[in-house]
Amino acid sequence: MSKSTKKVGDKKKRRKNPDCPHCRTGSETFRYSKSVFKFDVDLAREIVGDGREPIELHPDDVKHSVDTTRIYSDHVQHVDPQYPGIVAQIWYPEPNGTLLHGDTLIDGHHRAARCLQDSLPYRVYVLTEEESQRILIKGPDKAEAQQIADAAREHHQEELTAAH
Ligand SMILES: [Zn+2]
Repeated sequence: MSKSTKKVGDKKKRRKNPDCPHCRTGSETFRYSKSVFKFDVDLAREIVGDGREPIELHPDDVKHSVDTTRIYSDHVQHVDPQYPGIVAQIWYPEPNGTLLHGDTLIDGHHRAARCLQDSLPYRVYVLTEEESQRILIKGPDKAEAQQIADAAREHHQEELTAAH
């Protein structure tokens, strides 16, 4: 068995089911947080095909990713849990002006569900800050999120001052 992880994007290796609409291949994007964010999953797969090592995702994070995504239970049986998922970093401005920095699974939710179900470790490739910005199709990037957060904080300060 080769330890190469270069075949991650090779969909032919997956155990597809012709009757399952979720097994169909095609260009993929992932929407997150009520579609505030949209990611280019195809580009993300290309980026992580560079030979980097996947890391094991904490079981709590696997569960969170599965719980917050729509999972098609039939499709869970069609995916190969040995293929790592992909995690991207996001920046999000809160209404009070706090800039949140977090990460989110953008690819492999059904594989995560499968690992959770079968008590298997789930591994993910993690995108760098710069790579995470590159795959962002929609939603604030780091600089925009910072600007929005700054503006919200200033506005919040003005309101506090006006109240006195
Ligand atoms: Zn399927």
